[in-house]
Amino acid sequence: MEDCIFCKIIAGEIPSDKVYEDEDMLVFRDIAPQAKVHCLCVPKPHFAALSEMDGAQAETLKRCLEKIPAVAQKLGLADGYRLIVNQGKNAGQTVFHLHIHILGGQPLGEKFV
Ligand code: 5GP
Ligand code: ZN
Repeated sequence: MEDCIFCKIIAGEIPSDKVYEDEDMLVFRDIAPQAKVHCLCVPKPHFAALSEMDGAQAETLKRCLEKIPAVAQKLGLADGYRLIVNQGKNAGQTVFHLHIHILGGQPLGEKFV
Protein backbone atom coordinates (compact mmCIF):
# COMPACT_ATOMS: atom_id res chain seq x y z
CA MET A 1 0.00 0.00 0.00
CA GLU A 2 1.38 3.35 -1.00
CA ASP A 3 1.65 5.88 1.78
CA CYS A 4 1.20 3.31 4.56
CA ILE A 5 3.92 3.83 7.13
CA PHE A 6 3.71 0.24 8.43
CA CYS A 7 3.95 -1.21 4.90
CA LYS A 8 7.08 0.92 4.47
CA ILE A 9 8.49 -0.41 7.75
CA ILE A 10 7.70 -4.00 6.65
CA ALA A 11 9.42 -3.32 3.31
CA GLY A 12 12.47 -1.93 5.12
CA GLU A 13 12.02 1.51 3.55
CA ILE A 14 11.65 3.07 7.00
CA PRO A 15 13.88 1.79 9.82
CA SER A 16 12.41 0.21 12.94
CA ASP A 17 13.67 -1.48 16.08
CA LYS A 18 12.63 -5.03 15.15
CA VAL A 19 12.18 -7.69 17.78
CA TYR A 20 10.69 -10.51 15.67
CA GLU A 21 9.88 -11.21 12.04
CA ASP A 22 8.49 -14.11 10.06
CA GLU A 23 6.33 -14.62 6.96
CA ASP A 24 3.16 -13.47 8.74
CA MET A 25 4.20 -10.55 10.88
CA LEU A 26 6.73 -8.01 12.03
CA VAL A 27 7.07 -6.98 15.66
CA PHE A 28 8.93 -3.76 16.42
CA ARG A 29 9.18 -1.26 19.27
CA ASP A 30 6.72 1.63 19.26
CA ILE A 31 8.38 4.97 18.53
CA ALA A 32 6.47 6.61 21.42
CA PRO A 33 6.30 3.91 24.09
CA GLN A 34 3.46 4.08 26.62
CA ALA A 35 4.91 1.38 28.87
CA LYS A 36 8.40 0.08 29.66
CA VAL A 37 7.85 -2.45 26.90
CA HIS A 38 5.62 -1.28 24.05
CA CYS A 39 5.80 -3.14 20.77
CA LEU A 40 3.57 -3.35 17.74
CA CYS A 41 2.72 -6.66 16.13
CA VAL A 42 1.89 -5.90 12.50
CA PRO A 43 0.48 -8.56 10.17
CA LYS A 44 2.28 -8.25 6.83
CA PRO A 45 -0.80 -8.13 4.55
CA HIS A 46 -2.15 -4.61 4.47
CA PHE A 47 -5.65 -4.08 5.80
CA ALA A 48 -6.76 -0.97 7.58
CA ALA A 49 -8.70 -2.30 10.54
CA LEU A 50 -10.63 -5.28 11.86
CA SER A 51 -13.71 -3.95 10.07
CA GLU A 52 -11.94 -4.40 6.71
CA MET A 53 -10.47 -7.86 7.33
CA ASP A 54 -11.20 -10.69 4.88
CA GLY A 55 -10.95 -14.42 5.53
CA ALA A 56 -7.32 -14.82 4.46
CA GLN A 57 -6.29 -11.84 6.57
CA ALA A 58 -8.19 -13.33 9.52
CA GLU A 59 -6.16 -16.53 9.11
CA THR A 60 -2.96 -14.46 9.20
CA LEU A 61 -4.17 -12.62 12.29
CA LYS A 62 -4.93 -15.94 13.98
CA ARG A 63 -1.37 -17.10 13.38
CA CYS A 64 -0.07 -13.76 14.71
CA LEU A 65 -2.05 -14.24 17.92
CA GLU A 66 -0.76 -17.79 18.26
CA LYS A 67 2.84 -16.54 18.02
CA ILE A 68 2.57 -13.55 20.36
CA PRO A 69 3.11 -15.54 23.60
CA ALA A 70 6.53 -16.73 22.40
CA VAL A 71 7.46 -13.19 21.31
CA ALA A 72 6.28 -11.87 24.68
CA GLN A 73 8.47 -14.45 26.42
CA LYS A 74 11.43 -13.22 24.37
CA LEU A 75 10.59 -9.65 25.42
CA GLY A 76 10.75 -10.62 29.10
CA LEU A 77 7.02 -10.30 29.67
CA ALA A 78 6.57 -13.47 31.74
CA ASP A 79 4.71 -11.46 34.40
CA GLY A 80 2.03 -10.49 31.91
CA TYR A 81 1.18 -8.03 29.21
CA ARG A 82 -1.78 -6.31 27.58
CA LEU A 83 -2.80 -6.50 23.93
CA ILE A 84 -4.74 -3.60 22.41
CA VAL A 85 -6.21 -3.14 18.94
CA ASN A 86 -7.53 0.33 18.25
CA GLN A 87 -10.43 0.22 15.81
CA GLY A 88 -11.38 3.51 14.22
CA LYS A 89 -11.81 7.09 15.28
CA ASN A 90 -13.26 6.74 18.76
CA ALA A 91 -10.48 4.36 19.73
CA GLY A 92 -7.90 6.86 18.52
CA GLN A 93 -6.53 4.71 15.71
CA THR A 94 -3.89 6.75 13.91
CA VAL A 95 -2.19 4.21 11.64
CA PHE A 96 -4.60 2.46 9.31
CA HIS A 97 -2.73 -0.80 8.90
CA LEU A 98 -4.02 -3.22 11.52
CA HIS A 99 -1.65 -3.69 14.43
CA ILE A 100 -1.70 -5.15 17.92
CA HIS A 101 -0.10 -3.15 20.69
CA ILE A 102 1.88 -5.30 23.15
CA LEU A 103 2.30 -3.46 26.44
CA GLY A 104 4.12 -4.65 29.55
CA GLY A 105 7.32 -4.63 31.55
CA GLN A 106 5.54 -3.00 34.49
CA PRO A 107 2.20 -3.24 36.30
CA LEU A 108 -0.37 -1.69 33.99
CA GLY A 109 -3.26 0.42 35.22
CA GLU A 110 -6.46 -1.39 36.08
CA LYS A 111 -8.60 1.05 34.15
CA PHE A 112 -9.32 0.41 30.49
CA VAL A 113 -9.71 -3.29 31.07
P1 5GP B 1 -2.75 3.46 16.86
O1 5GP B 1 -3.08 4.72 17.60
O2 5GP B 1 -3.03 3.58 15.39
O3 5GP B 1 -3.37 2.24 17.47
O4 5GP B 1 -1.19 3.25 17.07
C1 5GP B 1 -0.21 3.65 16.20
C2 5GP B 1 1.10 3.52 16.93
O5 5GP B 1 2.14 3.56 15.98
C3 5GP B 1 1.37 4.64 17.94
O6 5GP B 1 1.56 4.08 19.22
C4 5GP B 1 2.62 5.32 17.39
O7 5GP B 1 3.49 5.75 18.41
C5 5GP B 1 3.24 4.24 16.52
N1 5GP B 1 4.01 4.74 15.38
C6 5GP B 1 3.58 5.67 14.47
N2 5GP B 1 4.54 5.86 13.56
C7 5GP B 1 5.57 5.04 13.89
C8 5GP B 1 6.86 4.80 13.31
O8 5GP B 1 7.25 5.36 12.29
N3 5GP B 1 7.66 3.88 13.93
C9 5GP B 1 7.26 3.21 15.04
N4 5GP B 1 8.13 2.34 15.57
N5 5GP B 1 6.06 3.42 15.62
C10 5GP B 1 5.22 4.32 15.04
ZN1 ZN C 1 0.05 -1.05 5.25
